[in-house]
Amino acid sequence: MQALKPASMLSYQLIRSAKRKTIGLQVKHGKIIIRAPKFVSDKEVANIVNAKSTWLQNKVAEQNNLPRYSNNHYQENSKLLIKGELKTLHITYGLFPEVILDQDFIIVTISNRTKIKAIDNAELKEKQVKKQLEDWLKQQTSNYVDENLSLQAEKIGVLPKSFKVRLYKSRWGSCNSRAELSFSSLLAMTPNWVIDYVIVHELCHLQHMNHSREFWQLVELNFPNYLLAKAWLKSHQHQLYWPNI
Ligand SMILES: [Zn+2]
Repeated sequence: MQALKPASMLSYQLIRSAKRKTIGLQVKHGKIIIRAPKFVSDKEVANIVNAKSTWLQNKVAEQNNLPRYSNNHYQENSKLLIKGELKTLHITYGLFPEVILDQDFIIVTISNRTKIKAIDNAELKEKQVKKQLEDWLKQQTSNYVDENLSLQAEKIGVLPKSFKVRLYKSRWGSCNSRAELSFSSLLAMTPNWVIDYVIVHELCHLQHMNHSREFWQLVELNFPNYLLAKAWLKSHQHQLYWPNI
């Protein structure tokens, strides 16, 4: 869940040999290795690393079991996981900013006023789309948690004090000793039944502030398919990320 690094920040091992005729790029055990002939300058090597930086960083991320990097996450035709389904991002312009979920698309309408500023500036446009999507995801998650939290709490027999939704990238939810719960707005990228599991998980922490056997027994009692939900989150990890731009 990190932004794409500029190529100049990539570290790599450079191995030169007199016998080599071409430059070879390799990612091994999560490290970048460049093999180059003696006659190629450091600058030329850096240029090639630069040209291949997205590919290299994705290979490194993949081998280190990290989410893939992306430099086109919030652009026309980007694929985004929304409510557990892969949607195609479509960007349009209108009177008011809006985000609409369609059968196959997630449609982001940028307001005409922003268009004047954003139309010639791809980066500004991407930032605007990212911001609107973030607001929308937060709203969706808040609505869902709001509608379902007290019902689940009653079933389990616990009393949460409050909840908030924020853009957490590395956790789905948390709970403190004051019975205040937090949820990641990115939960709207997962199916509702997975959000149900996260809600139950956090509520069960109101009885057991740990991941003991008793805690998991309480989770299972209230959400028998909890292992399926955990497996879903794990298997979609590579799509459940929200890179900075
Ligand atoms: Zn937990």
